[in-house]
Amino acid sequence: LLRVENVRKSYGEEEVLRDVSFDIDRQDVEVIIGPSGSGKSTLLRCVNRLTEFQGGDVLLDGQSVLAMDVNDLRRRVGMVFQDINLFAHLTARENVTLGPRRVLGMDREEANATADRHLAEVGLSDQAESYPAELSGGQKQRVGIARALAMDPEILLFDEPTSALDPELVGEVLEVMRDLAEGGMTMLVVTHEMGFARRAATSLMFLDGGYIVERGPPEQLFERPERDRTAEFLRRLT
Ligand code: ATP
Ligand code: MG
Repeated sequence: LLRVENVRKSYGEEEVLRDVSFDIDRQDVEVIIGPSGSGKSTLLRCVNRLTEFQGGDVLLDGQSVLAMDVNDLRRRVGMVFQDINLFAHLTARENVTLGPRRVLGMDREEANATADRHLAEVGLSDQAESYPAELSGGQKQRVGIARALAMDPEILLFDEPTSALDPELVGEVLEVMRDLAEGGMTMLVVTHEMGFARRAATSLMFLDGGYIVERGPPEQLFERPERDRTAEFLRRLT
């Protein structure tokens, strides 16, 4: 479904992604780990063209993202960020209906039904009428996930979706992500939550210095890492 081919990306002199290649299939959950500055966010941003890259290509269903209409690409590739950027003057339901109405051209009734279905999916049926200020950080992040789902994406990117949350709110968001994974959603997830990686990832990728140092099934990286750097990084995380 998604193929990243020899992607290179620099900011000025600084090479952030040196030669990154990997494939993911439908229903795969790829978890990306790595130290701060290793290029994890940049890699996600190359996939939906929030940033341009200098070399290589990213293919979605065989088609280069460079050749796609960027709005079409971003509808097909949803993203959930660390900071929850909901519109404060809109209710949870209204935040979720915005994309379906504006981008997919749904009428209000259909968009509301879609929103309610996805709010239910993230366990927020009772909060549809709430404004962001009335929601906890975990609830806001779940609205963000519902908003992404409402566009019916083929793949969802997550950039440290729980790292801005109070520890007691992390679990509810990870639980929603695990449910999505089990439901067959294709996901590319940057996270430091190793419990999630162990339980939900079909593949784990360790990125360092702009390279994929090691990639494989999570149990392989946790139990029998081939590279010392992977072992050392995971020792510090777990
Ligand atoms: P973190 O774990 O801290 O989120 P990361 O792995 O997501 O780190 P990136 O945000 O991808 O790392 O950044 C990789 C490198 O690119 C860093 O050295 C960063 O300083 C640099 N960088 C990122 N965004 C920009 C930008 N807009 N302009 C210049 N340099 C940038
Ligand atoms: Mg980052």
